[in-house]
Amino acid sequence: MGQNSSKTSCLFCNIITGDVDANIIFHNKDVIAFTDINPQAPVHALIIPQRHIESINELEDTDKEIVGKLFLAARDIAKQEGFSQPGYRVAMNCNAAAGQTVFHIHLHLLAGRELGWPPG
Ligand code: AMP
Ligand code: ZN
Repeated sequence: MGQNSSKTSCLFCNIITGDVDANIIFHNKDVIAFTDINPQAPVHALIIPQRHIESINELEDTDKEIVGKLFLAARDIAKQEGFSQPGYRVAMNCNAAAGQTVFHIHLHLLAGRELGWPPG
């Protein structure tokens, strides 16, 4: 949920509440994952905490568990969708220089093609 029960301006909080449609591929009580609307690979999902956190900079020391759960969801989705092998990439952008455009933390999960390094 968002910070409170009233309408929120956060796009991803609105996906969590169902006010904005998304193709949800995974969810549990702490995180949800849905297909990116502008996919950069054959598989491109966004894994987000159900609780609103703006960016990595706003993480608290007490958020260790939820951060870990984003990665565990990536592991589980890879297994569910069958791309644990050959592999995949997870990435999280923080603020403008890295290209963050939605200020509710999200782990990008990319798979289904060769992924170059370094990324752009
Ligand atoms: P970032 O640039 O790291 O903040 O990533 C934001 C991502 O959200 C981009 O890859 C967008 O394509 C994606 N995105 C924006 N709006 C939506 C939406 N309504 N549903 C799904 N993905 C979205
Ligand atoms: Zn939010």
